[in-house]
Amino acid sequence: MTATRIDGKAFAEKVCDEVSEGVKSLQASHGVTPGLAVVLVGGDSASQVYVRNKVRQTEACGMKSFHHILDATTSRGALMSIIESLNADPEVHGILVQLPLPDHLDSRDVIEAIDPAKDVDGFHTSNVGELWTSGESFIPCTPLGCLKLLKSVEPNIAGKNAVVIGRSNIVGRPMAALLLNESATVAIAHSKTQNLQSVCRQADILVAAVGRPQMVKADWIKPGAIVLDVGINRIETDDGKGKLVGDVDFDDASKVAGAITPVPGGPGPMTIACLLANTLEAAKRSVS
Ligand code: NDP
Repeated sequence: MTATRIDGKAFAEKVCDEVSEGVKSLQASHGVTPGLAVVLVGGDSASQVYVRNKVRQTEACGMKSFHHILDATTSRGALMSIIESLNADPEVHGILVQLPLPDHLDSRDVIEAIDPAKDVDGFHTSNVGELWTSGESFIPCTPLGCLKLLKSVEPNIAGKNAVVIGRSNIVGRPMAALLLNESATVAIAHSKTQNLQSVCRQADILVAAVGRPQMVKADWIKPGAIVLDVGINRIETDDGKGKLVGDVDFDDASKVAGAITPVPGGPGPMTIACLLANTLEAAKRSVS
């Protein structure tokens, strides 16, 4: 079997086109342009590139972009006052604080300061609670992107066995909640899971969100399963340039899976696209 390659880049472009149309229609109907504010405290050059990409794509969709690039030594008080001013700013509909934060800042404390109605990352406990109780919430962007990719190849998720490897608050747990809300039978695996390979072999839908390069091999995969690879890992190559790989051994797994996302070009591009979709949604809710 050679798996269908799920093209996250092409799908993300489609989502961004839909967002651009949504922005135009909100401007026409209510005179409102959605605005996204990104806050980066410290961060290496990779984080700064990531933030620049978000700014560029936000503007490309016709939205307003606000960014606060703060020094790594920024105090809690200074950061909180920026968040308070963004909460109160009617031009800002979505607020994203880039994680991780420097050690002297508590990310939970900072996320809880964001107005849940502007929490387009879906990390505020109010939105997390809504997600787990099937209410209306902002859904974390990476799992939301994975769900959209999954539905593009398998609209009928109900009753399927799903295994999510990873239980982080930003990927594994919300991914499991989403699959449960779609009536899949869900298992969450993690570093203490026993017989991980045989747990994964039960999965009709396998999501890997671990951070271990090419850990999942062909013999972990049920023939025909759909595999969503969230991992982004840089490995060394002979030419010294290095390359990005996922948590799944793509070439090996492609021989067994029914459909699979590549890395790069899988859930990664969908993450920013879903952030923009959530920001449009926040702007729409602000006028309804
Ligand atoms: P975390 O480090 O927060 O979580 C990793 C999870 O994997 C933990 O639950 C951990 O278990 C589990 N784990 C670690 N080792 C093993 C193992 N040997 N067997 C089984 N489970 C294991 O990572 P994130 O969730 O933040 O990210 C996961 C990956 O996804 C990373 O590669 C990251 O770069 C990528 N990512 C990609 C995004 C995108 O846009 N595509 C966005 C966010 C992340 P335990 O809880 O027991 O420690």
